[in-house]
Amino acid sequence: MKNFIIFGAPGAGKGTQAKLLANEFGLVHLSSGEILRQEIKNGELGETVKKYLAAGRLVPGKLIDAIMEKEIKRHKKAKGLIFDGFPRTISQAKYLDHLLKIEGRPIAAVLKIRITEEEGIKRILERAKTSGRSDDNKVTIKNRFKIYHQEMHPILDYYREQKKLIIIDGHGELNEIFQNLKEKIKKITSV
Ligand code: AMP
Repeated sequence: MKNFIIFGAPGAGKGTQAKLLANEFGLVHLSSGEILRQEIKNGELGETVKKYLAAGRLVPGKLIDAIMEKEIKRHKKAKGLIFDGFPRTISQAKYLDHLLKIEGRPIAAVLKIRITEEEGIKRILERAKTSGRSDDNKVTIKNRFKIYHQEMHPILDYYREQKKLIIIDGHGELNEIFQNLKEKIKKITSV
């Protein structure tokens, strides 16, 4: 098996799709946001980190790099990994490449789910009714979109140049998008 990254603006459904794909292909789903929220809940990270998340700002690179390094090492025996929410900057992308090089398992493909900002905002406001996430509110969503677009362009270029980028339309039904992603992964893993 191979390692993958899933990208998508807030509300694109990347977390849901990553979980489905992990289940389908026996991959370990590594969501940086979920890991951070869990560590905050367990009291492993301080108030400062909590504030970054509540504001929709990126936590310091060194912290997230260290957290993901620990997770990659912890799942050494996994069939493959699917990264969700990481990397979010070029520096993180380079660090990830470096870590996976040590493991001898580079990223096989980067899957990007594309949706419009209007659709993303609509979905997050819907999710906010039940998610309990401090960053699922209108002001923070705008900020998360702004950061996403600023940070994503260079990263997408980085993977496009490596010929690893696959773009999927995220507007259809959840299952339709899943089937589409599944086909793409099957193609990659069969070569
Ligand atoms: P997510 O669940 O991916 O939307 O992430 C929620 C929040 O966690 C983000 O708005 C950031 O505050 C923080 N976060 C998650 N992943 C990263 C990352 N790779 N680098 C910096 N901050 C992150």
